[in-house]
Amino acid sequence: MPDAFASKYGKAAPPPSRTVLLNPGPVNVHERVRSALAYPDVCHREPEVADLMTRVRAKATAVCGGDETCTSVLLAGSGTAALEAAVSSVVPADGRILVLDNGNYGLRIHLIVATHGIDETYLEFGWTNPIDPAAVERALVDDPTITHVAMVHHETSTGMLNPVRAIGEITHRLGRSLLVDAISSVGAESFDMLADHVDWCVATANKCLEGLPGVSFVCAPRSRFEELADVPAHTFYLDLHGHYRGQAIVGAPLFTPAVQVMFAFEQALDLVLEETVTGRAARYAELAAQVRAGLAERGMEFLLPAEHWSNSVTNVMVPDGVRYADLHDGLKDEGYVVYGVQEELGAVFRVANMGQLDEADIKGFFSALDRVLPAVRTGGAA
Ligand SMILES: *Cc1c(COP(=O)(O)O)cnc(C)c1O
Repeated sequence: MPDAFASKYGKAAPPPSRTVLLNPGPVNVHERVRSALAYPDVCHREPEVADLMTRVRAKATAVCGGDETCTSVLLAGSGTAALEAAVSSVVPADGRILVLDNGNYGLRIHLIVATHGIDETYLEFGWTNPIDPAAVERALVDDPTITHVAMVHHETSTGMLNPVRAIGEITHRLGRSLLVDAISSVGAESFDMLADHVDWCVATANKCLEGLPGVSFVCAPRSRFEELADVPAHTFYLDLHGHYRGQAIVGAPLFTPAVQVMFAFEQALDLVLEETVTGRAARYAELAAQVRAGLAERGMEFLLPAEHWSNSVTNVMVPDGVRYADLHDGLKDEGYVVYGVQEELGAVFRVANMGQLDEADIKGFFSALDRVLPAVRTGGAA
């Protein structure tokens, strides 16, 4: 019967058995995570879903370093949904947000702030330049009307790890709130929302937490969520205080959550809590070291100096005489997906090592690269 439609609408190609994802999320997931997707059909207003959400919120809080004074609110949507919920919900009408930008995701926060017409001071450091804590401190001392600071912990577009602890120390000392996009750092970097003085932590299921796309969350001290009662929301669907009330007070989601993806996310959270965040950070750091050693051996050059590297993303220059698209397609034919970067950075691409990957995957990637590179070099034997 489906074939009757295939001639009219086309037909999906059979999926590959396993592609090694070297893009910075979505990632290769554990079989336990994938199997959980097959949870039987369920109504989202039944107690088993309320219980699931309570457990997932507690486990999400734990991986952010939160204690019982903190809680998490789950959103159906990608990381940007949680980011927009937080950014658009936390700044009061008489507040002002200082946005720190040193890459594509810092820019994204700026664009969200602009979309909602929130008063903003915008500090651009330039892509690939580190955030300068002294400049942040000066901006806050100079302008007491700034109530919030927003930054990205791991700037995934360049692979730069930003100094969240240094900024948190400043915002804490100067009495401002800190909102951190920790979407690609939670689970794989040293991050502790309490020690780092993070008031609002935004994260997602499908990066270093190794879940599937469709669920994201905001973690914060309960007192912060309570304070939002007086802050008018900028959006109906992403009203963070509304979701907090639904999930943490009433015990029912506001709207239909991505239930099966949440069951999968619970497995992913169990896996990272079993591995521990420090254990996962060490595993990723080891794989990143293998990626970087292999690239360096082949004479390839990195976008950033080593002092700024994260545990999960390596930005590397496209070799001379190679078109990125050819390199990407050649590697994909071999079963490895690498990731392009924004045009601002020129001929650079990314090799991420997030997800359920091991040494054999990295070795396999380099064997594939050694076959593909000569074939795609202009004038090379194609
Ligand atoms: C992936 C990512 C996002 C969100 O991207 P989505 O496609 O919405 O999940 C935001 N910030 C950072 C730092 C990211 O790495």
